[in-house]
Amino acid sequence: MRVKVNEADCIGCGSCHTICPEVFFQEGLKPSVVLLDPVPPEFEQRVRRIIDEMCPFGAIVIVEE
Ligand code: SF4
Repeated sequence: MRVKVNEADCIGCGSCHTICPEVFFQEGLKPSVVLLDPVPPEFEQRVRRIIDEMCPFGAIVIVEE
């Protein structure tokens, strides 16, 4: 699984970093950065939950391979 953050849609809320700091880094109001690409399998469930339930403007998108 690969994901990317669309910077224009990211409001820097930090939810992704709070829930899964292994995959996302975010500080201040800057856009989130993907740290692990591809996302290791052990983090996929958490990342999907962030995408489905937590990222307010759908800034995190799954990259189709
Ligand atoms: S949850 Fe979404 S809007 Fe919030 S920091 Fe992460 S990518 Fe940006």
